[in-house]
Amino acid sequence: MPGFELFGAEERKEINDVLDTGIIMRYGFDGPRKGIWKAKELEQALCARLGSGYAQLTSSGTSALTTALAALGIGAGDEVIMPSFTFVASFEAVLSVGAIPVLADVDETLTLNPESVRQAITSKTKCVMPVHMCGTMADMDALIKICKEHHLLLLEDACQSTGATYHGKCLGTIGDAGTLSFDFVKTITCGEGGAVLTNNEETYLKCNAFTDHGHDHIGMDRGADEHPYLGYNFRISELHAAVGLAQFRKLDQFLAIQKKNWQILKDVLSVVPEITWRKIPDPNGDSYTFLSWFLPSEELTKAVLEGFKVKGIQGGNMYWYDHNWHYVRKWQHLKEGQSMFPLTDSQLHALKVLRSQDFSQSDRLMSRCISTAIQMGVTPQQVEAKGRQMVEVIQSELTKHSVTA
Ligand SMILES: *Cc1c(COP(=O)(O)O)cnc(C)c1O
Repeated sequence: MPGFELFGAEERKEINDVLDTGIIMRYGFDGPRKGIWKAKELEQALCARLGSGYAQLTSSGTSALTTALAALGIGAGDEVIMPSFTFVASFEAVLSVGAIPVLADVDETLTLNPESVRQAITSKTKCVMPVHMCGTMADMDALIKICKEHHLLLLEDACQSTGATYHGKCLGTIGDAGTLSFDFVKTITCGEGGAVLTNNEETYLKCNAFTDHGHDHIGMDRGADEHPYLGYNFRISELHAAVGLAQFRKLDQFLAIQKKNWQILKDVLSVVPEITWRKIPDPNGDSYTFLSWFLPSEELTKAVLEGFKVKGIQGGNMYWYDHNWHYVRKWQHLKEGQSMFPLTDSQLHALKVLRSQDFSQSDRLMSRCISTAIQMGVTPQQVEAKGRQMVEVIQSELTKHSVTA
C-alpha cells in the first residue's frame, strides 16, 4: 500500500532538480528557479490524471481538509456529518474551523451509512463528509441524493483513496471538494503533503489564497499581494512536491500491483465460507490498498487475531475496532473535549452528546472486521503463502469455536 515501498531513482531525480537551483519554496523567485516549479507541475498532473478541474497542494491531508472546509464557508456553529470510522484528522479539521463534528454510523461499506446520515441532519447541518476508508468508496449516489434534498455541501475525505474511482470518477472529484493525503503511509507519499480537489473555480481560488495567508497571487511581486481574506500557512515545499511528482507518476503502476495482490489474497481466503466481504459500491473502482473482511462473531475475530499473533502474521492485519486512531470507541480525547484552547459552547455541547451516543450499529460490524493491508514490495508467491497461513488459523479457530458453541 504505502508509496514508500517503491521509492528510488525517480524521486531522487525530482529532488535533485530542486536542489540544483536551491529554490525550495513553491512561490516567487521566478528567475533563480530556472523554470523548476514542482508544486505547480504536481497540481497539473493531479488535475490531468484524476479528472479534477482544479487542485491545490497543501502541507498535509489535515490542512487540506481544513482548507476545504474554510473555502466552502463552513465554520462557527455549522454541523458536519462524518463517520464513526475514520482517522482523527477528519474531526480535528472540523473543530479547527469552529464547526461541530457529528458522528454517524458506518454500514457494510465501512463508510457512512446513508440512513444514519439522514437521522443526523438538523437545522444546523451544513455539510456531509464521507470518508473513503481503506482505499474504497462510500455510497456516493445515496449521499449525493441526501445532500441535494437538504441543500448540504458534500466534502469527500479521500485521503486514503488516491486513484480509486466511483462509476468512472476519481474519489475526491465528485463532491463540492475532496481531499487527498500524501503522508508517509499513504498510497502516494511525499513525506508530508496533501491536496484539495474541486471543480469549482471560486472554491479553488479560495483554497489557493487560504493556504498562503490569504494572498491573492495576482501579479509578479509577492510582497504586493492583496489579502481579500484571512488565511493561514498550509504551503507545501518544492522538495515535498518533487517527491510527490515522482510518486504520482507511478500511481497506475502502484494500483496495478495492488489489484493483483488483492485478488490473490481474496482467492486464497475465499475457501473459508464463513468469511464475508466488505461491500464495495463500485467494485471496479477500488484502489485495492486493503482487503477488508468480516467473521461471524467478535469472539471468533479476536481469537483469529490472537492466532495470527502466535503465527507471527499479525502485521498488516488491522483490527480497527480496538484502534486508537481510527474508531470512535477509543476517541476519549474527543468525547471529553480535551482541547488545549477553549472550544465554543456549541462544540462542547455536541461533544457531551457524543459521549452517550449509541454506536451499536457500527460496533456490530467493526468488531467483526479485519482489514488486511495489501503490500506492493512482495511477490505473488509471498502473498499466497501468507494467505494460506491466515486460512489455517481461521479454520483452526472455526473448528474450536464450533466445538465449544
Ligand atoms: C491520513 C488521513 C488524513 C490526514 O492526512 P495527513 O496528511 O496525515 O494530515 C485525513 N483523513 C484520513 C481518512 C486519513 O487517513
